[in-house]
Amino acid sequence: MRNILSVGFLFFLISLSTSCSRPERKLDAPTIAVEDLRRAAEMYREKAFPVRRFSHADMIPHIHKRSNLFSQEILGQSIEGRDIFRLDFGQGTKKVMLWSQMHGNESTATMALFDLFNFLEGADDGFEEIRNTLAENLHIRFIPMVNPDGAERFVRRNAWEIDLNRDFLHGTSPEAVILKQARDNFEPRFGFNLHDQNTYYTAKGSRNPATISVLAPAYDEATSINDVRSNAMKVIVGMNEILQKEVPGHVGKYNDAFEPRAFGDNFQKRGTSTILIESGGYPNDPEKQYIRRLNFMIILNALYQIATEGFTDYTVEAYFAIPDNESRLMDLLIKGVALNDSVNYRVDLGIRRREVEVADPLDYYVSGSIADLGDLSVFYGYEEIDESGLVIVPGKTYEQPINFDSFTPDDAVELLRSGYLAATTAESFSGALHNLPIIVLSGKKEIPFGTAIGSPTNFFLQKEDILKFAVINGYLIDLAIPEAIRWKQKVL
Ligand SMILES: [Zn+2]
Repeated sequence: MRNILSVGFLFFLISLSTSCSRPERKLDAPTIAVEDLRRAAEMYREKAFPVRRFSHADMIPHIHKRSNLFSQEILGQSIEGRDIFRLDFGQGTKKVMLWSQMHGNESTATMALFDLFNFLEGADDGFEEIRNTLAENLHIRFIPMVNPDGAERFVRRNAWEIDLNRDFLHGTSPEAVILKQARDNFEPRFGFNLHDQNTYYTAKGSRNPATISVLAPAYDEATSINDVRSNAMKVIVGMNEILQKEVPGHVGKYNDAFEPRAFGDNFQKRGTSTILIESGGYPNDPEKQYIRRLNFMIILNALYQIATEGFTDYTVEAYFAIPDNESRLMDLLIKGVALNDSVNYRVDLGIRRREVEVADPLDYYVSGSIADLGDLSVFYGYEEIDESGLVIVPGKTYEQPINFDSFTPDDAVELLRSGYLAATTAESFSGALHNLPIIVLSGKKEIPFGTAIGSPTNFFLQKEDILKFAVINGYLIDLAIPEAIRWKQKVL
């Protein structure tokens, strides 16, 4: 930090001596070096949350254990009586409010907030200047997990199936009323609305997932820009600057059509510069732990730039230069594969996977299906196969029942290589979860298979009579070099 500040001071002297006009963007906007943000994220990661699915009960001890640097209050209860907390930090006059998980299954930023709490309680780590700057200038109010009932089921909506982020005007849900009143009572100058988006958005003009998407929501139908909204845009430009160093080309910008029922739009309208952060997808990060780290980094930097007023050095133009979000990704894209009706024809096949909750919603299995087919040349895949001559063929079922205790992933791969796509087991295992790279059928059942849109994706890809790949529940297995995939399946 000392280095950055002294470089900034040097630039200040140079700009005094060389120019009288104000540059487009001053290069001395106080910022935290990316390496420092990375180091802080690593040091202060809250290890109690290693995956996206955790409950309100899992979270409570980590609120209660906070030091006296935080003041705490229960703002109210959800429909099912779960407490919604606020934690305040800092003695400054600039008020900032951050809230997460209005949608119960969007927990990435909640994890990052607990990392941030750990950071704010840290000491003797070289980050004192940052921490002091925040504490002296800001009064930060955190509201983690606004929708605890949704989090319990790991679904978007609350216990009455109301989307909290469309309930600002009616205020039917107690959780929406709590959040609305929290803003009205506190009147923050800045607000951070923390969400997750699906993993299929790209940054327009590229094949990159929009790992983080941003928006300074509109406050009217005309999508006008006043000081309140432009300040949100400038803070976003500062976040984007960090992200472009860390994950170049992985940032998208949401459409700013006014949504009269949403919180961001209404908070903006009421004078709180509101910033939407949406955590998207990143290759090989199904639990979004890298994306959580990005959240930590950009939120910490944004708070620092609000504390120092550094954000005022950015321009609205730079906000509009961030590429738009575009939905162009598939989990698996198979190009030019042969299907057969009475004739052979070739199509691109786009496959997407979804997580399906089981009785315990903190557990789930994965189900893949055909999302689109035809000319998918404008789409990209997290995984892609582009190999001429591939033909889809259904798999066989290995009829001799397997013993779950002794059957290994290697055994499963051996069966796949012999043309078996499914193994069988006793009826009593129906519905059990497993992580074998093969379909497991209980009793006499057929392998779910089809080539229409929406069909389950369980088949082999064959080339010149040789089985090359297996696709099971939308996951790809290269039969020549099968990798261990940590997936979750259900015994059918
Ligand atoms: Zn959301």
